[in-house]
Amino acid sequence: MANIEQITRKAYAKINIGLDVLRRREDGYHELKMIMQTVDICDDLVFEKAAQPGIVIQSDNEELPVDGSNLIYRAADLLMREKKITEGVKIALTKRIPIAAGMAGGSADAAATMHGVNELFGMGYSIQELQELGVKLGADIPYCLVGGTMLSEGIGEILTPLPAPPDCFLVVVKPDINVSTAFVYGNLHADRLTYHPDIDGMVEALRSGSLCGITDRLGNVLETVTIKEYPVIEQIKELLRNMGAENALMSGSGPSVFGIFTERKAVETAARAVADKQLAGQIFVSTFHSGAAE
Ligand code: ATP
Repeated sequence: MANIEQITRKAYAKINIGLDVLRRREDGYHELKMIMQTVDICDDLVFEKAAQPGIVIQSDNEELPVDGSNLIYRAADLLMREKKITEGVKIALTKRIPIAAGMAGGSADAAATMHGVNELFGMGYSIQELQELGVKLGADIPYCLVGGTMLSEGIGEILTPLPAPPDCFLVVVKPDINVSTAFVYGNLHADRLTYHPDIDGMVEALRSGSLCGITDRLGNVLETVTIKEYPVIEQIKELLRNMGAENALMSGSGPSVFGIFTERKAVETAARAVADKQLAGQIFVSTFHSGAAE
């Protein structure tokens, strides 16, 4: 009797519509003030109990390791050790979220795994308990466990839910470059930043449902490091704006870029323009999504 039960979860990507770094703390972490937003780009995870002990990951993406370094493995292992589960689990991943892109794909998979394993083995963890455990694996995991629109402070663990932005369309683009998050934070001089995005103003714009209040305030201080290294990011932002985006921004530490549009027709034309100019290998037409837990 190998497979007793099966559970499917979706793991949604996030973008940052605002990202500020307030300071570098003595422990080396950066104190952040960000607005996180789930987007309708997701990985699928299928969980099955197995009679053999252990965690087995099957992935359709050859780039990703399926050993103990995969965040899916680490998340399942964390919960199964805590609850002393002796059965095994098989987890099948269909990967769509661009990897190492500033879209928290690994954290989203880890969060979906915590939900999946919690349910599969009837562990009974509350969301808050999962968040407390999850932050040990990654600062974005507490957010990914709930998703939606959130103000995220501290190192990412202090979360305040916000109203979702008004409906609109997105083009999300991942150029074919690999950006290390550690490199970006390592080269950011938080004390020398001359510009800080108006995160408080954006919170107000979300509360009043003003799309232009949001798009006028898009800002990410990590662009100062990543765009200097990879000017293609600025080229993509300019192209998206020229193609009708209300505004465009790099997400997280990059290199993903998104443009916010009010017209469906314009998103499709803009996505084609990015493809025609061969500025990126991964291009998505998407929308905002309300939450992660599905
Ligand atoms: P963030 O926005 O949180 O910085 P990211 O989008 O930049 O995340 P991820 O896609 O989460 O980056 O991947 C970062 C690293 O984590 C990659 O180098 C990858 O090898 C590793 N990793 C481990 N498990 C996973 C997973 N399930 N999915 C994606 N990456 C994973």
